[in-house]
Amino acid sequence: MSRIEKIRCPNCGSQHGERHYIDNLMRTQCVECDYLMITDAKTGEVVEAYAPGLYMHQLSSCSS
Ligand SMILES: [Zn+2]
Repeated sequence: MSRIEKIRCPNCGSQHGERHYIDNLMRTQCVECDYLMITDAKTGEVVEAYAPGLYMHQLSSCSS
């Protein structure tokens, strides 16, 4: 089951952020600034993260 919530983007503050709940994953994204964050809804662990112009790329440097 999945659902989508409208949220304010945590990166750029846009009203066009979206939060998708897909199985055990929570995916936060923003069309305005290409922000992307995927976390495990149970553990809170970051699966994938991307935010343009920020330090975030360091977090995903060891992903395949
Ligand atoms: Zn944004």
